[in-house]
Amino acid sequence: MADTPHYGFDTLQIHAGARPDPATGARQTPIYQTTAYVFRDAEHAAALFNLQEVGFIYSRLTNPTVSVLQERIATLEGGQGAVCCSSGHAAQIMALFPLMAPGRNVVASTRLYGGTVQQLTNTIRKFGWSARFVDTEDLDAVRAAIDDDTRAIFCESIANPGGYVTDIPALAEIAQAAGIPLIVDNTSASPYLCRPIEMGATLVVHSMTKYLTGNGTVTGGVVVDSGRFDWSASDKFPSLSQPEPAYHGLKFHETFGPLAFTFHGIAIGLRDLGMTLNPQAAHYTLLGIETLSLRMQRHVENAVKVASWLEKDPRIAQVTYAGLPSSPYYQRVQRLYPRGAGALFTFSVKGGYDACVKLVDSLELFSHVANLGDTRSLIIHPASTTHRQLTPEQQERAGAAPDVVRVSIGLEDADDLIADLDQALAKATA
Ligand SMILES: *Cc1c(COP(=O)(O)O)cnc(C)c1O
Repeated sequence: MADTPHYGFDTLQIHAGARPDPATGARQTPIYQTTAYVFRDAEHAAALFNLQEVGFIYSRLTNPTVSVLQERIATLEGGQGAVCCSSGHAAQIMALFPLMAPGRNVVASTRLYGGTVQQLTNTIRKFGWSARFVDTEDLDAVRAAIDDDTRAIFCESIANPGGYVTDIPALAEIAQAAGIPLIVDNTSASPYLCRPIEMGATLVVHSMTKYLTGNGTVTGGVVVDSGRFDWSASDKFPSLSQPEPAYHGLKFHETFGPLAFTFHGIAIGLRDLGMTLNPQAAHYTLLGIETLSLRMQRHVENAVKVASWLEKDPRIAQVTYAGLPSSPYYQRVQRLYPRGAGALFTFSVKGGYDACVKLVDSLELFSHVANLGDTRSLIIHPASTTHRQLTPEQQERAGAAPDVVRVSIGLEDADDLIADLDQALAKATA
């Protein structure tokens, strides 16, 4: 299926990577709940371990259910290969791991998921890596932040939560001029709304926990490689261009060409870091992806309806949704994300912190949870939860001021969601 680019998105989200099970004819992809695979003979085993033959050895590295999911997502993103892993955060480490080394840095957008800011600020320092945060609206600042030790630029397509959409082609141009890859976290958009590789991105990462699975059942992540980056053009990426001692001096880029990053991710990344996705989770995500386009269309449709209603309501101070004509990013959405700006946005309530807390407690349909991208509509008040450790200034800068709530608009009837917000706002601002 990966060789059939003439099929449309709706067809590929159901069929890419999958075929009837060769042993049983099972039409749905089976859950291969197995740890290991029997080798044909000793020679076969040796060839697999030497990476001379592709096949299944041990499920920390590869599993048939997970492989179908990898091929499906690679196809939907327009990439050459993909490696699934145990969470979105694992995917971010797996994306950086082959590129980085002690002393190296990544230039990252200031507008990122809070957990990613945390991971890149504090945790990666333990590996000797560091991040330099810049506002990606200021392209000169992005260029200025890149130095000889920079190994990637990292951004989100639709940035959670502030209603910000990134100018991916502009960042891709800067990355290309600097000879480094652009990594795009495409979680909030999904490949239905945004295909970063077509805009020049090198790598795409996802938290599959969100829209790809789509119903709040799985924690998972994936790294997709465009297969387009020339890892051997400079001496910056020795893990991919230089001999690998663990495989008798094999050079990944020379040996595997456009699949170098993917093979490295499996043969070194999953082998040694072990952030593996389990086959049950892969199965749920495969089921979710079958309806991705239908869900995203409804998510966007509902988000536009709810955001438009909120914007007109006198109890609301501001709505930040790039799908509204009032957004400063509306033109960019039309140009780069014509299918819509996603279903995640924030709004501020007149009445501040207390009104927000009361709003969250008064809603009946919206669930108060720290997640997004569910069939169900979700709400969170960052200042009393995810961002409560921050100073008021930090909260303000993160788009999480005390009067701000974030919603992830689900697939319910939009009129029901609006009615629920209406009754809860009445209680919150009474
Ligand atoms: C949730 C999320 C992550 C982290 O993913 P997990 O699956 O929770 O590890 C990363 N980026 C974005 C944009 C997210 O929404």
